[in-house]
Amino acid sequence: MSGLFTAAFLEKIGWDADTYERSPVELVGRGAGITTHPELLAALAGSGAGTRDLGVAVERRVTLDRKGRVIGERPLPQILTSWDRLQRLLRETVALRCYHLGHEFERVEQKGGALRVHFVGGRVEDADLLVGADGVRSSVRAQIAPEVQPVYAGYYIWRGAANESALAPHTRRSIFPNFTFFLPERQQVIGYPIAGLDDDLRPGHRRYNFIWYRVADAEALQRMCVDANGHQHAFSVPQPLIRKDLIAQMRADAARELPPAFLDVLDNIERPFFTPIYDFSAPRLVHGRVALVGDAAATARPHMGFGVSKAGDDARALAGALRDHAEIDAALARYNAQRQPQGEKIVLHGRKLGAHLGVDLRTDEDRAMWKLLQDYRAMMDWIAVPNFLSA
Ligand SMILES: Cc1cc2nc3c(=O)[nH]c(=O)nc-3n(C[C@H](O)[C@H](O)[C@H](O)COP(=O)(O)OP(=O)(O)OC[C@H]3O[C@@H](n4cnc5c(N)ncnc54)[C@H](O)[C@@H]3O)c2cc1C
Repeated sequence: MSGLFTAAFLEKIGWDADTYERSPVELVGRGAGITTHPELLAALAGSGAGTRDLGVAVERRVTLDRKGRVIGERPLPQILTSWDRLQRLLRETVALRCYHLGHEFERVEQKGGALRVHFVGGRVEDADLLVGADGVRSSVRAQIAPEVQPVYAGYYIWRGAANESALAPHTRRSIFPNFTFFLPERQQVIGYPIAGLDDDLRPGHRRYNFIWYRVADAEALQRMCVDANGHQHAFSVPQPLIRKDLIAQMRADAARELPPAFLDVLDNIERPFFTPIYDFSAPRLVHGRVALVGDAAATARPHMGFGVSKAGDDARALAGALRDHAEIDAALARYNAQRQPQGEKIVLHGRKLGAHLGVDLRTDEDRAMWKLLQDYRAMMDWIAVPNFLSA
């Protein structure tokens, strides 16, 4: 997302931007739900991607108890989109000849203002600017700031999306139209509707996005990261390799703990997968003529659902600075001054909201935050809401 946003905004100010993606095939079918914010809509409009058929509109949020009864609700109109839809809209802004699949960044050499970028397999490109838009485990960042490392939050999520047509009539009537919470102690279950396969927004053809936050210390996470072939992964396991016993255990826990409608959603997700939650904020986003954007620059815990919005804002700020300054170095200094503090603020806010899960509460402020968020009304007021930065 941040790579495509950057290319789109740079093209708009007259730069020639090439995007190099490690994956050898087009990135589709990731299926994750993405909450939208005014900042994201503005970035999509400004980049030329637009917002047509963006997603499913919900009108309200509800919280359920264990039996599935609604214990609280709030009106909050919001559009829920999906990774696939955003990728498709943004992808169309970048000319085919400037988008290079199967190119894995290896290293960059800097001499004065000149850059030489090396890719795995031997391709070399010269450039005025390299933008590291390569995510939380950025290889670009690993070269220019290896000391910056993501920190495990102490919890992870099970996730997936169920087809609307497979859900029980009661689930379709009760939770499907809503942004829904279930908040047992030290856990969060959150669901909302998103487009179906091929961005299908027709009723009956959509999906319900499911997220279940659970606590696990670093050792338990390492055990989960042993895959079906017995191979230990460092950070997470690719979805097809997640062990069946972990999925079976999770489904058994769900049968005991989840309200019936959420259980129905989970039962209709064929291949749930887990994502450990990490965060960090790089103290500097610019090193010579290399700039970091999106998750490579700062990754927040996903409680605000703001990562793609931040990616769009980073890209827009970078292009804006380059447009407004004759010197590239001055523009990059401006970009860093604008966006580094903002990324840090977003990361710290994510940690505050993460206090709900009761992990590592060190200070009185952490404990006060934990207490505040035990009230489901506070959660509905703060999780993935628009305009949280100004609030
Ligand atoms: C559970 C969860 C829920 C979320 N929910 C939301 C939400 O509701 N709303 C929201 O806005 N955000 C959400 N996010 C965050 C959002 O997914 C990220 O912030 C966003 O994807 C960041 O985009 P990015 O382009 O910076 O990084 P990425 O999406 O990680 O993209 C990095 C790209 O770089 C490529 N790459 C990596 N290494 C190399 C290399 N060496 N060479 C070339 N290419 C490389 C990768 O293949 C990938 O395509 C959520 C995140 C999680 C984990």
